[in-house]
Amino acid sequence: MPHKYHPESLMMTHGYKPELSEGAVKTPIFQTSTFVFKTAEEGKAFFEIAYGLREKGQDENLGLIYSRINNPNLEILEDRLCLWDQADDCAVFESGMSAISSVLLEFLKPGDLLLYSAPTYGGTDHFIHDLLKKIGVHSIAFRPEHSKRDLLELIDASGLADRLSLIYVETPANPTNDLFDISLCAEIANLYNSKFEEKKVFVAVDNTYMGPLWSQPLTLGADIVMYSATKYIGGHSDLIAGAVLGNHEVMQRVKTLRTFLGNMVSPHTAWLMLRSLETLKLRMEAQLKNAEKVASYLLKHPKVDKVHYLGCIPQDSKAYELFKKQYSAAGAMVSFDIKGGEKEAFKFLNQLKLMKLAVSLGSTESLAQHPASMTHIGIAEEDKNAFGILPSLIRLSIGVENAEDIIWDIEQALEVV
Ligand SMILES: *Cc1c(COP(=O)(O)O)cnc(C)c1O
Repeated sequence: MPHKYHPESLMMTHGYKPELSEGAVKTPIFQTSTFVFKTAEEGKAFFEIAYGLREKGQDENLGLIYSRINNPNLEILEDRLCLWDQADDCAVFESGMSAISSVLLEFLKPGDLLLYSAPTYGGTDHFIHDLLKKIGVHSIAFRPEHSKRDLLELIDASGLADRLSLIYVETPANPTNDLFDISLCAEIANLYNSKFEEKKVFVAVDNTYMGPLWSQPLTLGADIVMYSATKYIGGHSDLIAGAVLGNHEVMQRVKTLRTFLGNMVSPHTAWLMLRSLETLKLRMEAQLKNAEKVASYLLKHPKVDKVHYLGCIPQDSKAYELFKKQYSAAGAMVSFDIKGGEKEAFKFLNQLKLMKLAVSLGSTESLAQHPASMTHIGIAEEDKNAFGILPSLIRLSIGVENAEDIIWDIEQALEVV
């Protein structure tokens, strides 16, 4: 029996053959736009596959053609990302938004219905309500408290049940750590699949907020997983990128659209991510440990009203059951409501010394921001209230610093409030 390695053991080697690169132990940057064919026949065969004009032969691989279609840095990165999510295939994009908007464009047509979880990332929300609306895609939002029955009622009441094409889920939701049930979404997709046979309803999950490692949405019934690789995967606040993962059939469609939109990541950025992946597990585990300590500190602080952290969900709640089903750890995103409102929140943020006042998340350095006036400013006021994105809410992305220093920083900033 061949030994089965853990993903972290393969992040330095998987998908790369040193003998093809002068024996270099590390993957070089393939900074090239185009690749030489051995023969004209070979070039023809590669193009036939790339354009989907015929099925791949049994042992046939798509050869290297042109860096908009494929490039070794991108392919090796994609192979490695597949290991964490247990996916057949992956496509990397020039940003998380690029990955998400490509999925939305590929799996929705004018007249179709999109069911999506709210709150969702500001850029995604804008894309749904602006571009998708303009091209005639209808959308309905759903909330964590909606039961299966509520969801079926929502879909049927829209009068567009036969046009339901995509269920889009962002869980844990940013910035409140609300949880949505992925397998329930898959169940609903299957229900409409059997009702309207000519149509397949896909379930796509934005797993950015948790990151890879502690949740595998594909194993819970999702068809597509998306990441802003700018966050945990890149992990050093020095690049913008995205990724989409799924089975061969789904990824064939995503990759074909990427070829023609031309929104793939650059070889250099892909190479940076290869470096990042070597420490993904180390970084995320250190961030998790720190986040757990920060959350328990905040829970006891008299100036803190409420802590939104997956490690703090009461064990007798339904949310806890869902947390246990979908995740094997609580992640490193901690939000909290400070006693007071925007004034108190701003005082705290302006006083931080170690933590940086910046949006984004998942990086080695700790970051703090104010969702209501920054990342989620575009959300309608009544929705902000309903979603718990209050003026008192502060979002922390916990980094790899020493936990004592992070807590010292929070303590001294809370003191001046
Ligand atoms: C950051 C983020 C995105 C967008 O990714 P970019 O890399 O900035 O384009 C999408 N979804 C979530 C949950 C994010 O946090």
